[in-house]
Amino acid sequence: MREERPLTPEQRRLVEVIADALYQRGPGMAFTGAGISTESGIPDYRGPNGLWSRQNPTHFRDFLTDPAVRLRYWERRRARYPVLAAAEPNDGHRALARLQVAGYLDVIVTQNIDGLHQKAGSPPERVIELHGTAHLIRCLSCEARWPAEAFDPGPPGTVPDCPLCGGLVKEATVAFGEPVPRELLERALTLAEATPVMLVIGTSLAVVPAAHVPRRAARSGAFVAIVNDEPTPLDREAHVVVRGRAGTALAYLADLLTGDRLKADQGLTVR
Ligand code: NAD
Repeated sequence: MREERPLTPEQRRLVEVIADALYQRGPGMAFTGAGISTESGIPDYRGPNGLWSRQNPTHFRDFLTDPAVRLRYWERRRARYPVLAAAEPNDGHRALARLQVAGYLDVIVTQNIDGLHQKAGSPPERVIELHGTAHLIRCLSCEARWPAEAFDPGPPGTVPDCPLCGGLVKEATVAFGEPVPRELLERALTLAEATPVMLVIGTSLAVVPAAHVPRRAARSGAFVAIVNDEPTPLDREAHVVVRGRAGTALAYLADLLTGDRLKADQGLTVR
């Protein structure tokens, strides 16, 4: 369903500038954060209704060393994962997938762990999940992996261990204090360095090293556009900042580029 709140004339004008940049210089790339998924009912961390203000995130070192932290982690996972697994992509995810299929966007680098870009139709090989995925469980010792639905975490009040080697298991996401896989980060940074257009969506850019990805594009001369509800530290270096809901803005962007509107309004030939 389309987000009800319509874009203001100024927001529309700014989205049209982004469409023009993608049309003239694309394909570009997108860098997304938790804010693109709030319209699917998954809370972000630092937005006004974010989890940050309600729950301390798990730190990797504490997970490794403290059985009580592991117990709390698995209790939260049991409560949260069914919600995440049932979530559906929204207009924002679908718009990015449309832009990929139409050739205006190449890769999406996401900090999200929800798999909604792929569920919306983005080709999995063109989505880089910098912080991993909640849809897999992994063993920290033997690196075995299981799809979440095939892994039985046991009853509430217990902490599962690896059925193969007895090691610690957690979801295949990057916890606070856990390193981002080096080759994923390098791939994202290399792509960012070469991209002509960087679209930054729904992220506070407070998490490093992920936030280095759009920054690398900005430093390398890309056209940078930000779509976010709140200010970000990269706003000053961006060519366009759309302050507003990602779903509405991106749906308009995809309509402009994949419908006939550009051709009709601006006399351009749509690829
Ligand atoms: P963040 O919570 O730090 O920031 C989200 C930003 O999105 C905020 O600035 C907020 O104002 C904005 N926002 C919220 N809803 C929006 C909307 N509808 N349209 C436009 N902007 C909107 O998120 P982050 O920068 O991605 O960092 C949080 C970390 O937490 C990431 O590492 C991510 O892995 C993880 N996380 C992931 C999910 C998910 O997978 N859906 C959810 C929560 C947290």
